[in-house]
Amino acid sequence: MAAVTKTGWVSHERYMWHDTGRATALSPDRRWIQAFEHYENPETKRRFRNLVEVAGLFDDLVVLPPRIATVNEILRFHTPAYVDRIRAMSDASGGNAGEGTPFSAGAFEIALLAAGGTITALDAVLDGRVRNAYALVRPPGHHAEADLGRGFCIFNNVVVAIQHARATRAIRRVATVDWDVHHGNGTEKAFYRDPDVLTISIHQDRWYPADSGGLDERGEGPGEGFNINVPLPPGSGHGAYLATIERVVVPALHAFRPEVVVVPSGFDGGMYDPLGRMMAYSETYRAMTRMLMTAADALCGGRLVLSHEGGYSPIYVPFCGLAVMEELSGVKTAVDDPMAARSASAGGQELQPHQDELIRRAERLVSLPR
Ligand code: ZN
Repeated sequence: MAAVTKTGWVSHERYMWHDTGRATALSPDRRWIQAFEHYENPETKRRFRNLVEVAGLFDDLVVLPPRIATVNEILRFHTPAYVDRIRAMSDASGGNAGEGTPFSAGAFEIALLAAGGTITALDAVLDGRVRNAYALVRPPGHHAEADLGRGFCIFNNVVVAIQHARATRAIRRVATVDWDVHHGNGTEKAFYRDPDVLTISIHQDRWYPADSGGLDERGEGPGEGFNINVPLPPGSGHGAYLATIERVVVPALHAFRPEVVVVPSGFDGGMYDPLGRMMAYSETYRAMTRMLMTAADALCGGRLVLSHEGGYSPIYVPFCGLAVMEELSGVKTAVDDPMAARSASAGGQELQPHQDELIRRAERLVSLPR
């Protein structure tokens, strides 16, 4: 049988209908900030999806229609009281899932479709229908905890998908590599005591959540050593991200030997992002994708699944996303990132000494107790 080389793609118009309303930036204080469109609005994701189409890449992708996750699948991670609370608010006029996570009526079903879309992508890869896959889902998931929505996330899509895979297949070891600019706190918490899921998060130091994501959070009990945080200093760019993948992530993956690699994929580490203070650009995401593909090729038959998280620059997320899709599929389209050259030549893109020092400390976390 010929090797599976195809790349799966999950998206759905309904994801764009998740309505976060108007907001006062990140503060609930309505006295001094005129309400504005919420940062987590459909525009960045819609433009990413549309650029993939305009670039002509859909012909080379396997379009995978997302399914709705069942409540029982959500309950593999979230508490019944939390799920009931979200459903009740969604059936009424909407509400807030906890911390900074507003939603309108009907969000419950869209959140189920987001978790289900990530399940669809992971299932397609594990079934061998596609080699790798990208799930462009919304709302995002990596901040959501078992009983608390946080940071625009209602259900933790990646956690639900991984728990589904482990419950229904002979899959044991899964690694996550979260490159969203914010700490993947929900994913970390889900598997903190679990030695079979290696969770790695590369994020901006003490940004969101402010009190989590330090180097000292390494997992506990049987899970000790299986959580790695790389809290990069603000201002980190191409050099720092690639050094992190090369010196921390790839060695950790080789030590752990996962059966599939799952990436909570946010593009808010991009240099035009309003909610991040990092300097990654499209070629950074392309190179990180290539390095993870090489590791996945060596370790688990190339099985790599990305699920969309943050990224709030309507003009730039699409180019970062397209670069990832081109790399995953091996098809370079005719589209060039019009901002790549100026991004690449900006000061500070090279690995800086204080970033190198942080990565050096993270390297010491890689010796997994296995
Ligand atoms: Zn983020």
